[in-house]
Amino acid sequence: YSPATKTFHSLRPPVPLPPVSQPLSFTSYAISLLPNPFPSHPALIDGSTGVSLSYPDLVSQIHFLASSLHSNLGISKGHVAFILSPSCLEIPILYLSLLSLGAIITPANPAATPSELSRLIHLSGPAFFFATSSTSSKLPGHVTPILIDSPLFRSFLDSGSSLSDPIEILQSDPAAIQFSSGTTGRIKAAALPHRSFIAMIAGFHALRPSDMETTMLSAPMFHSLGFFVALKGIALAETTVVVGGAPLERIMAVAERYNVTQMTAAPPLVVAMAQSEETLRFDLSSLRRVFCGGAPLSLDAAERFLAKFPLLEISQGYGSTEAGGISRMIGPEECRRGRSVGRLTENVEAKVVHHVTGKVLSVGEPGELCLKGPATMLGYVGDPEANALAFDSEGWLKTGDLCYFDEDGFLFIVDRLKEMIKYKAYQVPPAELEHVLQSLPEIVDAAVVPYPHEEAGQIPMAFVVRQPGSNLTELEVMEFVAKQVAPYKKIRRVAFIKSIPKSAAGKVLRRELASFALCGSFSR
Ligand code: AMP
Repeated sequence: YSPATKTFHSLRPPVPLPPVSQPLSFTSYAISLLPNPFPSHPALIDGSTGVSLSYPDLVSQIHFLASSLHSNLGISKGHVAFILSPSCLEIPILYLSLLSLGAIITPANPAATPSELSRLIHLSGPAFFFATSSTSSKLPGHVTPILIDSPLFRSFLDSGSSLSDPIEILQSDPAAIQFSSGTTGRIKAAALPHRSFIAMIAGFHALRPSDMETTMLSAPMFHSLGFFVALKGIALAETTVVVGGAPLERIMAVAERYNVTQMTAAPPLVVAMAQSEETLRFDLSSLRRVFCGGAPLSLDAAERFLAKFPLLEISQGYGSTEAGGISRMIGPEECRRGRSVGRLTENVEAKVVHHVTGKVLSVGEPGELCLKGPATMLGYVGDPEANALAFDSEGWLKTGDLCYFDEDGFLFIVDRLKEMIKYKAYQVPPAELEHVLQSLPEIVDAAVVPYPHEEAGQIPMAFVVRQPGSNLTELEVMEFVAKQVAPYKKIRRVAFIKSIPKSAAGKVLRRELASFALCGSFSR
């Protein structure tokens, strides 16, 4: 902590980054980090089918695909490519090919409904679409997607040449658009530059363990966490075992079969591993550490996990779509730091600001965490209003998280100030659900808030004001919403109320509602 500037700095030595003026795509950077000759272990393994891909084949497929997409389809710098696919081996190859062309990767959740997808398409303005035979029907009728599981795509991967005329890509050029509601209740398109991924990978590369890692990737690759882990595995020459959306038993069986040494898990998977007796049936002796991120992991869950797996490290990390990876725990000592989410990652600066008075706070004082660093987003696409709210006048990104640092530089997340609900680490924007609820004629007003839940972390709860005389039931409300949103966004609890508490300016008093949900009375 520097009292003079009232800012917190990383305690880790700065990691040198390529000069920002040097043209460099993330793909060229990642390939430049690979050992020469390429590693002999597989780059990617499909945990369900056992199909694997070597490093030499991976790199040539990235080049072949890039050249085919460019010369056959005209994909080039600045084109937005919308991707709707479950996790599979082709996705990291597609990501790295598109990045090498300067195209902007825009992955969406395959669980989204067609109307949710139309909204995301409207926000991001794609020129090209990629889907699979199972997801393509969800895209609007006028769109002709390139099918990732088609013979054409396979032919693009398997033969061709490298681009004859490489495209110049600046580190500040946008690399990806990821959807997030940020600190307000509605979904937005966050644009992240190549530099963001270069900086995050540089940090991991500098601190990589000397042992060869086999990493299990169970987080979906469209979400910022899974997206990053997929890229990181390749750049750090790990073997990445992909298991998309599998039940616990299957994940454990894959961990045993491929001698997985580390896994990235959202809190529900850590909770399930700690709870289930099933895990004891598997030989997990290769497993050394579990990285947990995406949502808070309770101290209780972490302790139960460690009681069951005393030889494992459970390393928490904290980050967001907009800010990238902000803090993480490194090594056994940091991993035992109770409720902390670790120390600031290299090259990141933070300040803590009182969320009401705006006063900049010091060690031990909780306030909103604000960040500056090379991994921060460029901004929300076409949304100056949202950008003005996301950054302060000095360019600090506001996280919407209530946090403090202790004297040793460990970061503690106390609460979430922003409206976002996290169901199993998936973002659920309340404004979207409120909009759906208010479209029901029997509903006069509605507000959606998080409600704590052991397995999911939080579930969306609706407070509903019915029309006078209406007999609308809780179940009817839940069913109405469920028909219109992706399954993870469903309303799972309803309370009827006479009026929604609002501030003088008409803003819903969400914290009051959330505490009302818990204790049955308003805090005022
Ligand atoms: P996303 O953009 O979906 O990655 O969501 C980012 C938000 O998830 C953060 O701003 C936090 O509110 C929450 N979050 C992520 N990781 C953690 C963590 N380790 N502990 C507590 N909250 C977290």
